[in-house]
Amino acid sequence: MSSKLVAPHGGKGLVCALLVGQERDAELEKAKGLKQIEISARTKGDLIMMGIGGFSPLSGFMTKADWKGVCENFQMADGTFWPVPITLDVDASEGVKAGDEIALVKDGETFATMHVSETFEMTEADKKWECEKVFMGEGEESVDGKFWDLAPDDHPGVIMVMAQKDINLAGPVKVLSQGEYPAEYPGVFLTPAETRRMFDERGWANVAALQLRNPMHRSHEYLAKIAVEVCDGVLIHSLIGNLKAGDIPADTRVKAIEILIDKYFVNENVINAGYPLDMRYAGPREGLLHATFRQNYGVNNMLIGRDHAGVGDFYGLFEAQEIFDRIPTTGDAGKDLQCRPMKIDWTFYCTECDGMASLRTCPHDKASRVILSGTKLRKALSDGAEIVDHFGRDEVLDHLKEYYASLTEKVEVKMQGAASGESM
Ligand SMILES: [Zn+2]
Repeated sequence: MSSKLVAPHGGKGLVCALLVGQERDAELEKAKGLKQIEISARTKGDLIMMGIGGFSPLSGFMTKADWKGVCENFQMADGTFWPVPITLDVDASEGVKAGDEIALVKDGETFATMHVSETFEMTEADKKWECEKVFMGEGEESVDGKFWDLAPDDHPGVIMVMAQKDINLAGPVKVLSQGEYPAEYPGVFLTPAETRRMFDERGWANVAALQLRNPMHRSHEYLAKIAVEVCDGVLIHSLIGNLKAGDIPADTRVKAIEILIDKYFVNENVINAGYPLDMRYAGPREGLLHATFRQNYGVNNMLIGRDHAGVGDFYGLFEAQEIFDRIPTTGDAGKDLQCRPMKIDWTFYCTECDGMASLRTCPHDKASRVILSGTKLRKALSDGAEIVDHFGRDEVLDHLKEYYASLTEKVEVKMQGAASGESM
């Protein structure tokens, strides 16, 4: 049976750096004798994605030329599209040189070995440049003068990059572990090869993905159902890597999605899965990253709502949709992004429409609309406040309330303009 799905990004098929069986055993043995470099949670996620083919065609960390091209123009040195730098930072005191082989470890576990092909310095100025290229948007917090006043304290993506160590290492990796994900999320942590097989078995050609990092509420449900109506099926794909403090843990969110699918979806048209990355908080560029790795999972339509992957008010509400029209193309399908955005306006329940609607379909005013945002939901749950009708399904809310009831410390949820719905 030949696959009708979109080809993996990069034109080289799925590029998987994960070793298995005897090859893995031998590499693990070799790794014991190598210089051990402790990695961040973000790097662990990147390595696992390289291992399972989620970051095809990447087979290692970016060179300086790739880093520069990606920041400047969304393209690696060979012209292949890529939206955010995938780099590995180390302390200069580690003394790693080009030509070295090193082991990448976290909390005592060896995640990969790496052949270092290049090292390059990241000065304070380089990091600032990367931040301006990657994280600066068109929202009111990104205007000149304001960005650097706010971002070092308020933008988690900028904070992460500015805290990186001073040397970047480039080169191919051999991945030796998928971490806790296969054991903790059986049936949910699916590799690109696995989702492709599932889509193929169902005869799907045209597949949409819904990105989730918050519990699924009515607005998400509506987005997924719009996709089901016009595509062969939808992949509900949750971030199961690290989030920031105050976010709801992945197992609680994944269970909530299961509850929702069981009760409110036609099961065979939906797949519930998770991916092991951390948030990069890159706003519109993060939307592009979501589309890029979804293509590897076999998805050719990425649902992009208003303020997709938004961070505070650093981005315009439609920026993550519009950026898809601005990225460069080479005309070479292997190098260009094939996964297209499915752009959908703000969706909500409207009492006048007596159902779910969007700004494109509902002519009524604010007073008739139940404005849904994940942040608002988390705040209400955290405060123990009553959740307004039609915000979420009762079965899902009950599950989330149980989680909040189990917390010993109250979670502070910061509200900004975009999340409050005030700016619509
Ligand atoms: Zn209406």
